Amino acid sequence: MLARYTGVTDPGRRRRRNEDAYVCVPPLFAIADGMGGAQAGEVASGLAAAVLEEATGNDRGEERVSSLIQEANRRVYRRSSEDAATSGMGTTMTVALVDDSDGTIAFGHVGDSRAYRVRGGELEQLTDDHSLVGELLRGGRLSPEEAETHPQRSVITRALGTEPDVDVDTFTVEAEPNDIYLLCSDGLTDMISASEILGAVEAGSDLDDAARRLVDAANAGGGEDNVTVVLFQIDGTDSGETARMPAAVAPDADPDEDTLSPLDAVPAVDTAVIPVAAVEEHLQRTEAERPRRDEPRRRIVPLVLLILLLLALLALAAWGVTR
Ligand code: MN
Repeated sequence: MLARYTGVTDPGRRRRRNEDAYVCVPPLFAIADGMGGAQAGEVASGLAAAVLEEATGNDRGEERVSSLIQEANRRVYRRSSEDAATSGMGTTMTVALVDDSDGTIAFGHVGDSRAYRVRGGELEQLTDDHSLVGELLRGGRLSPEEAETHPQRSVITRALGTEPDVDVDTFTVEAEPNDIYLLCSDGLTDMISASEILGAVEAGSDLDDAARRLVDAANAGGGEDNVTVVLFQIDGTDSGETARMPAAVAPDADPDEDTLSPLDAVPAVDTAVIPVAAVEEHLQRTEAERPRRDEPRRRIVPLVLLILLLLALLALAAWGVTR
């Protein structure tokens, strides 16, 4: 059932280090985006990835995915408790486990690294971000357009390794022939839109080319964060043959510092974890403070401003033409 797969990670254009990690050990695929001072982010994502790479056992489905993520959580948490240099580190993790026996794929995730599916020319986001912006979006407090540019979009509400236990979201999908699944870090999704993601995947001559196009697009869009993508495809036939394809771009663990732009001033720690309870408390407080009768006026004022702005632009245009 599983036909081809590839994984690519790139430091992006602004960061010295790459704190992302990925795992391609079929039928298991995963992505981890680490955070923490100094090199702690790399330690966190690397430890979490290692748990999956070393995974043994025959459990299947969501249970296995969940127990692997729980084990990764324990390992990162233990290390950060024992080693002061890595205190407070954490990582996102999104895992996919393909089950050839029944044609399903189990997913589990913590944080804002996403899973998508391309089927029939359409891109579908399978995961809900555990992020401040994700919570605001689901609560109807932000539009998808506002969410894309929100200044706090790197604040996540759940991470692996920051607490002894972690709440893992799991779900299962039925795979169909020719489905392509994408796991990616926010260095991709913060830089390019969903339609650009779909465009890059569809333009790719094969999975490696598609992965390269995704990374190139994220870098062209600013490359402000590490970019990691894992792609795997379901076979169009029932041959069940699995072929390993080499990564299109080798992981760049130690980029030449001279090639970095002078704007390389992005702090190592860009991600914060705010528990979802705190977000909800904040939302309830702002809800309580907001006077109900102000609702209509809040909509009308910007409209009036918009009309005035349009009139001003028209006047300006008319002035330009008469000159
Ligand atoms: Mn990131």
